[in-house]
Amino acid sequence: MDLIDTHCHLDASAFDPDRESVLAGCAERGIRALVLPGVTASGWDVLLAVAKTSGRLHPALGLHPWFIGEHRPEHLDALAERVAREPLVAIGEIGIDHYPGATEPEGQKRLFEAQLDIARDAALPVILHVRKAHDAVYSILRRRGHPPGGVAHAFSGSLVQARRYVDLGLRLGFGGAVTHARARKLRDVLRALPREAIVLETDAPDMPPAGHHGERNTPLNLPEILRVVAEVRGEDPEEVAAYTTANARALFGI
Ligand SMILES: [Zn+2]
Repeated sequence: MDLIDTHCHLDASAFDPDRESVLAGCAERGIRALVLPGVTASGWDVLLAVAKTSGRLHPALGLHPWFIGEHRPEHLDALAERVAREPLVAIGEIGIDHYPGATEPEGQKRLFEAQLDIARDAALPVILHVRKAHDAVYSILRRRGHPPGGVAHAFSGSLVQARRYVDLGLRLGFGGAVTHARARKLRDVLRALPREAIVLETDAPDMPPAGHHGERNTPLNLPEILRVVAEVRGEDPEEVAAYTTANARALFGI
């Protein structure tokens, strides 16, 4: 069985003590590739250095909307410059976050649009981080023209919002949230989606699946997410692994 973790912060310091053994565990569990999304410009060097340690790690760089207060205009120039010389598989994570506590909605929007333009110019897909802002993101994607493919990571919107992304050719990332039995709405969305829309992710070290509350999440939990996705959709896990991995490979060109 081949699996791909399409969203994993293996570069996070939480993995400094045992990154190599986590990666070895991934190999044992059939996790063939992991996409490492960037969050802030100050973290890109470490992310790229970690990605270079294994052919199974694929870097993406971006300026995450939650950290809008840290981003500077020159970081956009730095991003465009990195795109030209690093083996990136995507621009991300980028987007809009209207979760309580998020700041500078206008600044977030401008930053998102600028990064969409960089992705489009580089013909790279995008990794979208969107909370409580799916309608705003959708209208920007439509109005501005969207890059070649992308994924709405840790998707948690409605079926209508999901279908709009799918109509734009984007995929939806499912991870820890769907493993919680109370996530009934999200499970209904997952059940209704076509196969080509779905990719798997852990978002480690955040978002631990059900039964791992308070623990560090790791990419080793990906088979558990696969098991739940298969159960919710009434499909064979082998089959779900095959199509979600094919989707991830097509999306990121890996
Ligand atoms: Zn993330």
